[in-house]
This record gives sequence, structure tokens and C-alpha cells, in this order.
Amino acid sequence: MKVKVLSEWLNSCSGCEIAVVDMGERLLDVLNLVDFVHIPVLMDNKYYGQLGDQKHLSLPEADVGLISGGIRNEEHLELAQEIRKKCKIVIALGTCATHGGIPSLCNTYGNNEILDRYYTTETTDPSDSYPSAGIPELLESCYALDEKIHVDVYLPGCPPHPDQVFEALVALLENRPANLSDKSVCDTCPTRREGKGDLKKLTRFLKAPKHNGFAEPLDTMRCLLEQGILCMGAVTRAGCGGNTITPRCLSVRVPCRGCYGPVKHEGNQMMDMLNALASNGIDITSLPETTSLLRFSGAHGQLRPPFKEDGA
Ligand code: SF4
Ligand code: SF4
Ligand code: SF4
Repeated sequence: MKVKVLSEWLNSCSGCEIAVVDMGERLLDVLNLVDFVHIPVLMDNKYYGQLGDQKHLSLPEADVGLISGGIRNEEHLELAQEIRKKCKIVIALGTCATHGGIPSLCNTYGNNEILDRYYTTETTDPSDSYPSAGIPELLESCYALDEKIHVDVYLPGCPPHPDQVFEALVALLENRPANLSDKSVCDTCPTRREGKGDLKKLTRFLKAPKHNGFAEPLDTMRCLLEQGILCMGAVTRAGCGGNTITPRCLSVRVPCRGCYGPVKHEGNQMMDMLNALASNGIDITSLPETTSLLRFSGAHGQLRPPFKEDGA
């Protein structure tokens, strides 16, 4: 009997769904074994009955629920709770689902501040300063899935490598734990390390003194952090290279920006990165800002609006 899979996107850009499709021909193998019972990226399955005649949101039952995106509004929350109710196993697919992802950068602002910024002209209805009819209410923050529902399997990455998506699905079908790395990007990076770097301040990537582009083989290129370039490999979970292992960005000589989230699920990429910079001899006061160190993992209360004494 085929395994029933339900896939849904919440506060998501659809890149994670593209990673599923990017499994290529292996997707055909998977499709021989699974039945997608609901997958908005591929088929139009209605939420309130196929004729829109039901009062309550309802999704089909499934063995596995694959959810991309975090939870930002009431509709996302309702969908996530419905999926939890209807699925035996829930997989958080992608860093938005596991740690809030890029959208959780909004957590540094209050909702009113965000709405004021984006709705700069008045609406046609003077009693309603922002368009709101038929639009789900924003929650007070952008949440990772496990802040609202129980998650069984975490598959971070922005997006996760298709090899990892394949491995996670096959592992479920074979009833075994998925073979996903718990190391850091640095642990899988072939660049040359000498210990402490010689630069005290961060260097802009394009002005890197010893970076010779593709002319230099990766295993003789000096570690970017040791060259004073902000590379977040030390504080980021490995896996983005898929079966080839070499981290995706490093393979094109670009520093890691942290898209797989922290090495340990509950880690804090900003605090860990400041430590890594300091232990490489870099003066952390030379950083123009630190919020972006949490650009992929601002949920779980890691990013919050600055405290204001007037409570605004
Ligand atoms: S993790 Fe990245 S690719 Fe996936 S939904 Fe979020 S932003 Fe898009
Ligand atoms: S800091 Fe960057 S360049 Fe250096 S080892 Fe880690 S991932 Fe590679
Ligand atoms: S190197 Fe870092 S930013 Fe680049 S894909 Fe891998 S985890 Fe993401």
C-alpha cells in the first residue's frame, strides 16, 4: 500500500517545493511509493470542500505531513494545527519551518511598525487604515513550526538540498531514521586552515586579499574566515552539499551565510558567530550590525523588537 503524503506551504516562498521537484528522476521512484493527497504546488485541492460548501477548514488524512514555511498569521496556524491532527508524522521542510527563516527578520519590528512602513497611502475606507477584509490576522511574531505544533523530523535548508529531501522520504518509507548530518558547514569544508587569521577587522568579500576566485583549487584556498571574511560555516548545520558534501556556497567560492540554521536545533547563530569571530582574532565591534547573523533563525524568540520604555 502506498504511503499518503500531504504537503502544504505556510509562510513560504515555494523554494522548498522546488527542492522536492529538483529530486529529478528520483521523484518518479518516490511517486511509485507515495500518494500525494494534498499538495498545492501541484494540484488544486480545496480547503473548505471541493465546492467551497463546508464551514470548517478540512484536509485529508495522511501518513506524512510535509510543511514548508513558518507561522505568521491565523490561517497558517489553523492549517498547521489541522495538518498535525490529520498526519501521523510531521516534517518541517526548510529553514522557514525549522527556525523562521528569512521572513522571521520581521520579528525585530512590531506589526504596527511593519504595516505603517508598507501601507504609506490611505485606503479608500477611511475607517480602515490597512486593507484587512478577508485577510488573515497577523500573529504577533513569525514562528517556527515547533513553537505551535509538535514536529517529528527537521529538514533545514533554504532550500534543503534535494538529496536530503530524498533521503528523508526514503528513510520514512523504510521506517528508519534519516541519515542527515549533525555537523557544521566548516566540518565539511575543504578549504585550508592555519589556525587564527591575520586580520583584526572584517573584510568585504569582494576585497578579499587572498581570494583568487576559481583560479585556486578549493582545498588550497585559505579559509575565508581566516582571511577576515564573514563566513558563517562554523555556526551553521552541514548538509547543503547533498551527496557531494562540499558546501554549496563554498564550492563557488562564496562565504556561508547560515541558511541551514544553527548546528544544534536550539543554537543561537548570532552568539555563536560572535564567539567564532572573537576566537579568530577579529574585533567584533567592527561589525556594522549583528541582526543579520540571525537572518535565517529569528524565530524561537531569538529576534525581538527593541524594548521601548513607552511600551510602543
Ligand atoms: S526555507 Fe528558503 S526556500 Fe524554503 S520556503 Fe523558506 S525562504 Fe523559501
Ligand atoms: S569559515 Fe567558511 S571557509 Fe572557513 S572552514 Fe568554515 S565554511 Fe570553510
Ligand atoms: S554554504 Fe551556508 S549559506 Fe550556502 S547553502 Fe550551505 S548552509 Fe546555506
